[in-house]
Amino acid sequence: MTEPGTKCVHAGTPEPAPGQPFLPGPVFASSYHLAGGGAEYTYARNANPTTRALEAAIGALDGGHTLAFSSGMAAISTLLSTLTNAGDTVVLPSDGYFLTRSYVDEQLELDVRLMDTAGQVPDLSGVKLVLVESPANPSMNMCDIALVAERAHAAGALLAVDNTLATPLGQTPLDLGADVVVASDSKALTGHTDLMFGHLSTRNEELYRRLERARTVIGCIPSPFDAWLAHRSLSTLELRVQRQSSNAAAMVEELLRHPAVQEVRWPGHPADPSYELATRQLRHFGGVITARFADAETADAVIGACTVISAATSFGGVHSIADRRAQWGDPVDPGLVRFSAGCEDPRDLVADLRAALT
Ligand SMILES: *Cc1c(COP(=O)(O)O)cnc(C)c1O
Repeated sequence: MTEPGTKCVHAGTPEPAPGQPFLPGPVFASSYHLAGGGAEYTYARNANPTTRALEAAIGALDGGHTLAFSSGMAAISTLLSTLTNAGDTVVLPSDGYFLTRSYVDEQLELDVRLMDTAGQVPDLSGVKLVLVESPANPSMNMCDIALVAERAHAAGALLAVDNTLATPLGQTPLDLGADVVVASDSKALTGHTDLMFGHLSTRNEELYRRLERARTVIGCIPSPFDAWLAHRSLSTLELRVQRQSSNAAAMVEELLRHPAVQEVRWPGHPADPSYELATRQLRHFGGVITARFADAETADAVIGACTVISAATSFGGVHSIADRRAQWGDPVDPGLVRFSAGCEDPRDLVADLRAALT
């Protein structure tokens, strides 16, 4: 089993046994029997077999040892609070997921240096941890992960990569030198808009043990039912991202035709500032597009006129959605709309956009 699409289907599932299912159902437990001794599972805040199976599957894709969390923010906050102490300096993306910056500002006492994802790597002397997001949500900027890893390690810093947009099928940051991968799996990895999930992966066993211990003492574990749903959904990840990527390409062509659209960002478009890096670093371009309209009213009118594409936040699901980002506090233009291409027939998506834009 070498190809990522095969791992999506098979990884973390049991050896075939007569009469047994392909993916066993969720194991619901808070405590497990101890009598007789040697129990692998004792209390479910420490570990659960359904969650372990999913962690094995995601770990096979990321190329590391994986810990599952109750949400992307649960994974990010555990990572940041475990790997830093008050007074440390961290580098965060200025144009990435806004709640990561809010978490650090509101809950930790750290010195923050902001980095523009598409800009120069800043001076990293004295930095404890660098977190990058590539592609970044919502700027769609990218950075050269191998280069940032080299600079971070030369300065004695750890590098964490938020891989939510790309998913492990798009890129594997641990192969590019990152120490930790973090992701919200509420997005494309699970992809059905029906659950919250997150994970961390690393090849550094000492880091893994510290993060696992942190998850146990904080308690931000996912439910076994969500872990099972996530595992079931993972099997179609490659099909979904292929369709989302090709649907995004069709939507970008349509958006570029309309004068009301002032700028389109999608790493797969040859005119996009991220394109050159995207062709080197990403295995698929993904379904997330941004389009800038003159103002909030125009953007809201376009979203309101769509009938197949739903007004909703988030991205990566089978349903196509559109979201005006400034309403949530993202520091972006009021007319910026983030589209997430779903898995519908591209003809319906293009027709929906065309009708909404005219
Ligand atoms: C959504 C998102 C998160 C947060 O994940 P949740 O599952 O919503 O907690 C973190 N990083 C990025 C890039 C995201 O898009």
